[in-house]
Amino acid sequence: MTARYAHLERSLGADLFAQVRSCKVLVVGSGGIGVEILKNLVMSGFGDIEIVDLDTIDVSNLNRQFLFRSKHVGMSKSEVAREVALQFNPDAKIVAHHGNVKEERFGVQFISKFDIVLNALDNVGARQHVNRLCLAAKKPLIDAGTQGYLGQTNIHVGRETACFDCEPKTENKRTFAICTIRSTPDKPVHCIVWAKELFKLMFGNAEESMLSGTEPDEDIADANKEESADPDANATNADAPSSAEIKEDQNKEKEIRSQIVEAVASRPSGDELDKDETVRAYARRVFDAVFDHEIRFKLQLRNGYKGANKRPTPLTFEEASSKADEDASGQQAGGLKDQRIMSLKECTDMFVDSVVTLLGPERRGSLGDMVFDKDDALTLRFVTAASNLRCHCFNIERKSLWDTKGIAGNIIHAIATTNAIVAGLQTLEAIKILAALKRVPVANATWRAPSASAEDTDAASPALTANSTAVWVAREPVGRGYLLQATGLPPPNPKCFSCGNALVTLSVDTSKFTFGDLIDRVLKGRLGVNLPSIMLDASELYAEGDGLDEDEVEFFEANKPKALADCPAGGIKEGTIVDVEDFSQDMKFKVLVHQKVYDAEENPDLFEVGGEEPVAKPDAKEDSEEKASADKAESSSDAPVRTQEVEAIMSTGKDGEELVAVASTVVSSSKRPREDGEKDHESEGSKRSKTDDEGAAAVVVSEIDLAGGAKASGDDDGDDDDVICID
Ligand SMILES: [Zn+2]
Repeated sequence: MTARYAHLERSLGADLFAQVRSCKVLVVGSGGIGVEILKNLVMSGFGDIEIVDLDTIDVSNLNRQFLFRSKHVGMSKSEVAREVALQFNPDAKIVAHHGNVKEERFGVQFISKFDIVLNALDNVGARQHVNRLCLAAKKPLIDAGTQGYLGQTNIHVGRETACFDCEPKTENKRTFAICTIRSTPDKPVHCIVWAKELFKLMFGNAEESMLSGTEPDEDIADANKEESADPDANATNADAPSSAEIKEDQNKEKEIRSQIVEAVASRPSGDELDKDETVRAYARRVFDAVFDHEIRFKLQLRNGYKGANKRPTPLTFEEASSKADEDASGQQAGGLKDQRIMSLKECTDMFVDSVVTLLGPERRGSLGDMVFDKDDALTLRFVTAASNLRCHCFNIERKSLWDTKGIAGNIIHAIATTNAIVAGLQTLEAIKILAALKRVPVANATWRAPSASAEDTDAASPALTANSTAVWVAREPVGRGYLLQATGLPPPNPKCFSCGNALVTLSVDTSKFTFGDLIDRVLKGRLGVNLPSIMLDASELYAEGDGLDEDEVEFFEANKPKALADCPAGGIKEGTIVDVEDFSQDMKFKVLVHQKVYDAEENPDLFEVGGEEPVAKPDAKEDSEEKASADKAESSSDAPVRTQEVEAIMSTGKDGEELVAVASTVVSSSKRPREDGEKDHESEGSKRSKTDDEGAAAVVVSEIDLAGGAKASGDDDGDDDDVICID
């Protein structure tokens, strides 16, 4: 033992340390979180690591992905991460894979090699994919995500804890009422959203812009309605407008909106577009229409800017362009050019200049189709200038180009510290899982370690995750004043589409075995399905029963003679999961297919079924018995529940190997959590739909997964571990 490991061995103990040295760990992703994990693993003595990442190093990664230097820009993240991490600990064995974890080569068989999988991914799609691979391969998954200051780690051990998909990834829509955007902004974001709408009106699909309508704001109409609804109230309110006055206000409102649309439509065309002065004059007309005329007119309305914190001040082009750098507060302060606040005059110049360029020879071809893009510097300049001018009118603080980019593009900047915290927590959780596995040789450990050995099936057996915790990283102290909030791991959600249903494994030669044989010999002959319907991803490959169209029947019958691999929707191959449902039995399960060629003499069936076998919904009597026993178990402690599970697994298993397999037939122990879970999901659902209703008259500006917190960090474009798009 080298001196390098002496302290580790003392801290962990000889057994656990040996486990750490020898276990196989997969790290998916070597970006912001991944490089931190890799460093932690090699420094903690982990000796057998593989990493997967499809990305190459970008200059924007360098501020926090500390294994990378500028000389690495353009190179493979996984390969460079491996090289540099090896310098930390040359003892470690690290294999780097440059590729997308969704590729076939990283399927269930690949995942099965590992003892633990750590997710360090920046998009939900890939995280879901790895979750399902881990469920199928029966491997513990330690997942993490960050979103700015917020972060989370979670442990997913199939059938023991909730999987990544157990909690639906809700989309919390950040919505603003249209009237807030059009009339009563009080935050920079309101003006930025408005500026994006102005961009759409001037250069994009004008009809889709909320500034294109000429109808008055609903709040003006509503406010008037409310006031006039109660005649007594009106009687005491001398200022209350009469219905004629309301009508008049609404007509004026319409008139103002029409003027804006007209000003925008007064765009020069043909040869006129080549005359700089003509285009500048156009920009000035739009400027005056939106920053001066509209505000000036609306101030005269009885309900104009009702609800605004402070009445706005109109701003003419003359005035704005004659104002010297009166308030370029950031200008003297130095700092990065894009991060300083521009003066009013600079905003005005930028507004006009960007209109000129957008209508210039290079861009004008896409007039009517242009779309705001935070990464398109020109569109960003227009939106920054326009929103700042509006901010000035409404007494709202202005924002730099940099900040506007973040707000307009719904970016939350990644923070190195948060990444480091979650990566540290993931490494700790990996060691905890190994500690739970330590009585079982790593090579034999699959899923629920204690049950792998007969003497461990006593009531005191800890589950694999007995000491594991999910941890939330908060920005402000929560609870008892901590920034880190540890929580228990929730039980699986029986309705989860990834882990909630039975999982049957089918080993078969997919190039020869036909789809018809799958239906007749496996599903009906072996698994007792009456009327199967078979889905592959979103495609229905087969269904039986009443009410089918002739076309459907023809399509389904045509699939039967095909080899599994030749079926529609990509075919059924190694690693494919098909969904099978039998409404007649209220039965639903998944079949995970493994490619295997059988010798007809040894196995005349030419297929093998493993995992757990699906069961129809238990009848009412069984149901209540199960509930009673579950209640009892719940009220005493967790341990008896696990004993029941183990027993059920034992009774379900077909051979030694399958005894430790997952078993959703163990309804007895999951009954209670299931009911609770259902309730939770219902209330969550009703909460959501209420929010949706409230937002009906609002414009959806952006979507952010706050509920999932860091769970849903980012979109699927895969290039954004530096920034997290929540658009
Ligand atoms: Zn699940």
